[in-house]
Formats: sequence, structure tokens, C-alpha cells
Amino acid sequence: MAHRSVKVAVIGAGVSGLIAAKELQEQGHTVVIFEKNNRVGGTWVYDPKTDSDPLSIEPTREIIHSSLYQSLRTNLPRQVMGFLDYPFGKRESGDPRSFPGHEEVVRFLEDFAGEFGIYGLTRFETEVVKVERKGKEKGKGKEWVVESRLTRGSDSVSHEVFEAVVVCSGHFVEPKLGVVPGIENWRRFQMHSHNYRVPHSFKDQVVILIGLGPSSFDISRDIAHVAKELHVATKPNPLLKDINFQTVANISFHSLIEYVHEDGLVTFEDGFSTYADAIIHCTGYKYHIPFLETNGIVTIEDNRVGPLYKHVFPPSLAPCLSFIGLTYRETIFNVIELQAKWVARVLSGKILLPTEEEMTESVQKLYQFIEENALPKRHTHSLRPFQADYKQWLVAEIGLPPLEDWRENMLMACFKNFVEMKEMYRDEWDDNYWDSIIQSGSSFEEEKISNV
Ligand SMILES: Cc1cc2nc3c(=O)[nH]c(=O)nc-3n(C[C@H](O)[C@H](O)[C@H](O)COP(=O)(O)OP(=O)(O)OC[C@H]3O[C@@H](n4cnc5c(N)ncnc54)[C@H](O)[C@@H]3O)c2cc1C
Repeated sequence: MAHRSVKVAVIGAGVSGLIAAKELQEQGHTVVIFEKNNRVGGTWVYDPKTDSDPLSIEPTREIIHSSLYQSLRTNLPRQVMGFLDYPFGKRESGDPRSFPGHEEVVRFLEDFAGEFGIYGLTRFETEVVKVERKGKEKGKGKEWVVESRLTRGSDSVSHEVFEAVVVCSGHFVEPKLGVVPGIENWRRFQMHSHNYRVPHSFKDQVVILIGLGPSSFDISRDIAHVAKELHVATKPNPLLKDINFQTVANISFHSLIEYVHEDGLVTFEDGFSTYADAIIHCTGYKYHIPFLETNGIVTIEDNRVGPLYKHVFPPSLAPCLSFIGLTYRETIFNVIELQAKWVARVLSGKILLPTEEEMTESVQKLYQFIEENALPKRHTHSLRPFQADYKQWLVAEIGLPPLEDWRENMLMACFKNFVEMKEMYRDEWDDNYWDSIIQSGSSFEEEKISNV
């Protein structure tokens, strides 16, 4: 089969853009990375600045990309936060912990970028403002025009034509807010976790956190040290039913908020009520790709980006348009790497995609499965509990040997620690045990993860 080499625009130099660029380069493609920040790392680059609107709903607000808080440590061990071709090992002068702080992850990504010549391909401080198919009016355009502008200095807009575009722009930037009855009356402070950095401003306050995901877990512990009281409002979750919630002295857990009153009183569905100083919405994020213009071919509806074959290729625009890193609830770095290898090989012609009709049928099957099993549409790109099948499908497609079980077992062990609210799970992690599992190729004890 003839080898194709194409000129590719990669949008974003976070984990997805970096590994995409490496793989594309290795397949002989010509790569340009557009990155609006002045360094690589994406979400892992901590920024003490926050959006100009703490709730992040004001459309004209200044937007800060990263959602990291100062104390953030990884929620997965470093063994599953590296790449198959470039593990995330401990460095002599680095943060030696198994679940390191965010600076260590950025340094790892910077080393990666240096090792694989990514800096030379990257246009920093260059924001992509539009991506559009050339000649779209005839419906035949194969090329893409990428419109970009410098984030500093000049207002001028540049246009450049590419044969392919890989979207790697991240999806933890545009906050999602839940429905909170009476919130329109709230006169005190409120923010989304996207804008949380440090706890000091909550000293001696009564704080309500909405949501019980990884950010809520960390932020509640961070603030509990300085706050007077902390109340977490959460939906009923069958996974959490056996957990004793009284894990930290001044944190208490409740059902959802029933009503928020103008005078600061917050009542919960479980009958509890308190006057609060602040509400923090730890309610997650929405996909948002404002620069992409596909004439309605790719849409975002109820947090579903689609149609996308295997969460990557829109059938009618494949392989020239692709998305890396949209999936979640898995070992993100691994999946991103496999998606990148797949995209690079599809573009070079080494791997053939099915026909447009077959890809569309596959997408429809996924949608039908979601509907028949009453799964929320907004979680279309969540891979759990099929993350292992998805990764094994990708490795088979790429032509790699099947992935060893330990990665999946590690993910499940972390998830179990998290749902059991093990406060110190990161520090109690038994590296020796896991090293022996990895080296021997044996399986993690089933009963330890059976409830996950
Ligand atoms: C609080 C938090 C904690 C997390 N913890 C973990 C963890 O412990 N382990 C884990 O594996 N994952 C974790 N994640 C998930 C994390 O998002 C992924 O690990 C990974 O960083 C995703 O990389 P990405 O490249 O897809 O997106 P991002 O890291 O968001 O990178 C996207 C890049 O695109 C650039 N960009 C966006 N739009 C444009 C544009 N128009 N023009 C030019 N450039 C643009 C951005 O500046 C950014 O550099 C966490 C996420 C959050 C928010």
C-alpha cells in the first residue's frame, strides 16, 4: 500500500497534542502544532490566575485554560500516566511520589517534548480561531483552512491550508453547572471548581460543595483545613451506599440542595439546613470547540461530540478531521497515545478505515446501546466499563500486542480507593506490591476490585 504523507495541523500542545505530534512525525507527516499558551503541558500547567468570572458563565470573560489547584496531585499512579514508548519514571531531582504533584507531570511532558523534537513544531502563543473546510460550498473540499492569531502583540489573523486537522484542545475548560433551586437568589460568593486554586479565602467560613467527583474530593479536603464547616451536596450513588461519610472532622455529606435562600440559608433534601458563606460547584465540564466550523456535520449536543467513529473520526470527514482525548474515565494517557498512533497510521494509509456507511453504523450502534441501557447521553465519551475493550480494540488495529492486565487493575484499584473515600490512598499505595505484579505479569487479586 502506498505511504501517504500529509501536512497536519495539531490544535493544542497538551498530552494529546504532544503525543499526536510525535506519532504523526514518526509516520512522516509534516506537523504544525498551534498552542495558545507559551509552554507545553495543557491542563497540567498550573496558572494562579482564574477566569474573570468565578462562575465562568459570562461569555465575554477572560478564560484561563487550566483547572488545576495548587495542591493537586495525580489521582492515578505514575505507571499509568506515562506512555508505552516513554514511561513516567521517577527522576533524581524530581517529586519521587507515586502520585506526584502537577509540576512533576509538566516536567515529564516537557522532557517528552524535548526528546521528540516537539518544540520545533510548535507555534506558541498562537490561538486557532477558526478551522473550516476549504471549498465546503461544493461539499468536495478535502483541505482545511486554519485561521489563527497571536495571543500577544498583533491583531492580525493568519490563514494556512492543511490536508488534515487533529483537534487536541482539551475538555476541562468550559464549566457545567447543575440545577440548584433558588440559586438565582444567592447573593453570597459562588464559583465553579475550574476557578479554585488555594483555600485561604475560605478561612473560618461555612462552605457548600456541590458534587462528589475527584475535584470535590480534593478541594473539600483542601478547604476543610481552614474552613469552619464544609458541607458536600451529592446525588444518591449506589457505589457509595456503604461508605461511612464522616471521614474528615468538619466535612459532612448530604443529599442534594433543596433550596438556596437569599439570606444565605441553604436547605438540603435530607432536612439539614445551614447558613453558608460560599458555594463551590464541582459539577464538571462541557465539551466546547468554538473554533470548529463543519457546517453542522460535527455537533455537540448534550455533551456528545458527534458523530465520531470510535470517539475519533467523523465518518464523512475522515480521515482529514480527527479528535484525540475526548474520552474519559480510563487511563487517559494510554488511550490518548493509542488514539494518536491510530490517527497517524490512518493518515499515512497504513491502516484503512471502514467505509463511511460502516463507520456511521458503528456510531449508531453505540448510540442505540446507550439508549437501550438508559445510560445518560452526556456520558457518551465515558469509556467505563468498556475501557479495556476499547484499548484492546485500538492496539489490535494498530498492530501492537494486547495490553497487559495490570494497567486496568491499577485503574480499578484507584477507583475503589476513591469511592471508599480512603483519605490517604495516594500515600498508602504499595509500590512494591504493584512492581511485583507488573514484573510477574500476574493478575491483581480479583476480590479487591470486584465491587468496583
Ligand atoms: C483538575 C484536573 C485533574 C486531573 N487529574 C488527572 C490525573 O490525575 N490523571 C490523569 O491521567 N488525568 C487527569 N486529568 C485529565 C487531564 O485533562 C488529562 O490528563 C490531559 O491533560 C488531557 O490532555 P489534552 O491534551 O487532551 O487537553 P489539555 O491538557 O486541556 O490541552 C489542550 C491544549 O490545547 C490548547 N488549546 C485549546 N484551544 C486552543 C486554540 N483554540 N488554539 C490553540 N491552542 C488551544 C490549550 O492551551 C492546551 O494547551 C485531570 C484534569 C483536571 C481538569
